[in-house]
Amino acid sequence: MAFDPELATQAYMATLKGAARAKSDAYFEGGYWLILAEFLVTLVANLIVLRLGWAARLSRWARSKAGPLLAAFLFAVPYLLLITIITAPYVLYTDFFREHAYGLSNQGFAEWGGEQLIFIAVDTLLAALLWMGVHAAIRHFPRNWWLGGAGLTIGVMMVTITLAPVYLDPLFNDYTPLPDGPVKTEVLKLARANGVPADNVYLVDASRQSDRISANVKGLFGTTRIALNDNLMKQDIHEIRSVMAHELGHYVLNHMWKLIITVALLIAVSLAVVAVGTPWLLTRFGGRWGIEGMADPGVLPALTLVISLVFFLGTPITNSMIRVQEQEADVFGLNAARAPDGFARIAMKLSQYRKIEPSPLEEVIFFDHPSGHTRVITAMRWKAEHLDASDIK
Ligand SMILES: [Zn+2]
Repeated sequence: MAFDPELATQAYMATLKGAARAKSDAYFEGGYWLILAEFLVTLVANLIVLRLGWAARLSRWARSKAGPLLAAFLFAVPYLLLITIITAPYVLYTDFFREHAYGLSNQGFAEWGGEQLIFIAVDTLLAALLWMGVHAAIRHFPRNWWLGGAGLTIGVMMVTITLAPVYLDPLFNDYTPLPDGPVKTEVLKLARANGVPADNVYLVDASRQSDRISANVKGLFGTTRIALNDNLMKQDIHEIRSVMAHELGHYVLNHMWKLIITVALLIAVSLAVVAVGTPWLLTRFGGRWGIEGMADPGVLPALTLVISLVFFLGTPITNSMIRVQEQEADVFGLNAARAPDGFARIAMKLSQYRKIEPSPLEEVIFFDHPSGHTRVITAMRWKAEHLDASDIK
């Protein structure tokens, strides 16, 4: 009987059923609502800070202490910490209790909380520095600041991406060169065959946080490296090869640079909307909030209201930008590893926390990776075209 990719895919789909499928569907579909909830929580938190006059008071304090440049920084730090405190119950639910409820976390509260504090410190510092720059652009170029603001945002993003593998990621996990053994042999074979420098492959102890199988490409310029996590390391060799070939795909296809360029365009468009939307908000509510205008560093919460709306509405666009790259890496990975069944088995394992068979529209709006079904059918179609090859795994 001829090999039928549709039937082979259905056979894979049938291996995730009953309570296990209901659980992964519930976890992932709950995430749809969390996108809306996060937007609303951000909205409410910023409205609290504005309506209760905290933003105005913080702004007066910051301006009494320093000149306009530093005042923006002095406003941003306590403002961001206030927002962190107001939204803490929500983050606690989504990132801690909900993950534990679905059995997806290996961390106790103290360890998780410690990581959160590091994350908040780094995030607050970077965001406050960025606001210092963006607000200087607003003061000096009241009409065209959004262009400079987009440039600064991308600049901070690129510096962060470049430094993350060296200075940020090691704050949370240990990265070590891949230990000798069959996995290293196979991964380095794949890397060399696809033109990736072999000294860029690392092992990360992600099981500290969860049992999720994963690998990634991070860094820019000299810091680019590919890491596989210890949960992946425990899988079958052809499953590992199929995932690592996918990661090599991101590297070889220059996905990081392509993403940076598209994100730069999106941020420029978003800030252009902010440059129109924020003054509009201020003419209506600025008096009640005590915010004097765009030159007031306390305008940040009002600006956040507008940009949150833009990012919320843009969710399907950003998800699709990433998902299209993931699909490209999937096909690259199939061609490089030649392990369609290894890849299909991994896609099934990843579907323990990602809805496996969404509708096409659902996948476009909510998925930043192809669904399990899309990945398995892609692998089975690839397999159908290579049945006469003897090296398929
Ligand atoms: Zn990927």
